[in-house]
Amino acid sequence: MSEAERDGARVRELNHFIDGQRVAGASGFFGDVFDPTQGSVTARVPFANAAEVGVAIAAARAAFPAWSETAPLHRARLMFKFKRLLDEHYDELAELITRENGKLFSDAKGEVLRGIEIVEFACGIPNLLKTDFTDQVSSGIDAWNLRQPLGVAVGVTPFNFPMVVPCWMFVMAAVCGNTFVLKPSERTPSASIRLAELFIEAGVPKGVFNVVHGDKVAVDALIEHPDVAAVSVVGSTPVAEYIYSESAKHGKRVQALGSAKNHLVVMPDANLDQAVDALIASAYGSAGERCMATSVAVAVGRIADELIERLAPRVRSLRIGGGMEPDLDMGPLITAAHRTKVSGYIDAGVAAGAKLVVDGRGYTVPRHEAGFFLGGSLFDDVSRDMSIYREEIFGPVLSVVRVPDLASAIALVNAHELGNCVSVFTSDGGTARAFSRQIKAGMVGINLPSPVPVAWHSFGGWKRSLFGDHHAYGQESVRFYTRYKSVMQRWPN
Ligand code: NAD
Repeated sequence: MSEAERDGARVRELNHFIDGQRVAGASGFFGDVFDPTQGSVTARVPFANAAEVGVAIAAARAAFPAWSETAPLHRARLMFKFKRLLDEHYDELAELITRENGKLFSDAKGEVLRGIEIVEFACGIPNLLKTDFTDQVSSGIDAWNLRQPLGVAVGVTPFNFPMVVPCWMFVMAAVCGNTFVLKPSERTPSASIRLAELFIEAGVPKGVFNVVHGDKVAVDALIEHPDVAAVSVVGSTPVAEYIYSESAKHGKRVQALGSAKNHLVVMPDANLDQAVDALIASAYGSAGERCMATSVAVAVGRIADELIERLAPRVRSLRIGGGMEPDLDMGPLITAAHRTKVSGYIDAGVAAGAKLVVDGRGYTVPRHEAGFFLGGSLFDDVSRDMSIYREEIFGPVLSVVRVPDLASAIALVNAHELGNCVSVFTSDGGTARAFSRQIKAGMVGINLPSPVPVAWHSFGGWKRSLFGDHHAYGQESVRFYTRYKSVMQRWPN
């Protein structure tokens, strides 16, 4: 019996969303959804089996012929209506995110805004689908190309961005003329159901966007299904790599975004006030559970001692509490198990000989004693062989690595197996230019932490942070969610 069942009276049961309506789970399997600030179960989420996944794919397949023939201009007009609904439900969506994820309400509002920006970009789809035409490639012959939708696309998304990552996928897939089945994180499942309802309310036909909850069983059923043409996944590298290779084996087009170990390089000529502010916001915001979080500060040359001196009091004084409370720096972690994992990394760092300057273990928040909280931790003298350097921790832990010069900093970042984003803080244009050209990562910030591309650029890492050819959203997603066709014509006259 799950905790949710024992606590039955106060626990909601969530639904899938298939063919325009909420559908109760039929498999008999459920997962617990927590309020991370209290450590209590608030809902149970149904886990779909292969038959339920098949029903969702059938709905998406049935909706595809009419939707793919709908004029892009009409699809754009529906996106304008969807955007208006998202504006109207802004706070409601942010609260849904905070209640299940634990991130601060202000942070969740930022996420909703990023989701809305994807929809705003999608409103330009008639222009984005415009293609090339060449008059008279030969005598009496013209040539042009088309970008046509693929069919049923599916998405698998992580717990840490319950709105924006689904929007990268279903909004862009649908506006390109595809239909979609989303399998959101089982830990933060509610936002996607609300998004599906608002999509229908905007006038998008039923079956275009479906949501099934679940675990590996549901994911395997999605990626093996013969009616699925394309798979997008965002998650940890082992899961992204597994879904990438399994989907490819089943003949799908696939993009798979994985883990991150983001470095922020502080040069001796950096504005230290700005670098410290950036590190605090980027390493500890959202309790470090962002794929764009900085988890390694690379201190170059003489700056290291002062950097540590300035960071330590800021980490000790982080304001930590329940996500709906005002004036805080961060909330709890997602689950008790994840907190144990992050604490285990801190233990391992100490055992490996790194200097633990601030220890966040054993942190409790008054009135939230059962919540999944951890204080901020700061390590100095971290070396590249330690697990706290090599592996993604995904918690409020910042490691400082000391290097002598820019070349060593670039070599360090480039040797890491992950390459999502990276930043450099410097007051020298030549350093910034060399860094941005030589660094092996998908997203680069200059005097900025966490350089999240805006909606009309594209998002993605290098190395083992991304498997596949396309980054997410922006023009890259139009390419991913459409198939290129070249046409030539000759008419007798
Ligand atoms: P996760 O890998 O545990 O789960 C991601 C999704 O995959 C979930 O929907 C989950 O149900 C499903 N899944 C889990 N195990 C699976 C399996 N064995 N087979 C098939 N599907 C499986 O990730 P998470 O803990 O939800 O999210 C955090 C991770 O996501 C971090 O590693 C973070 O770096 C990464 N992330 C990356 C980006 C990016 O853009 N690169 C963005 C957000 C999060």
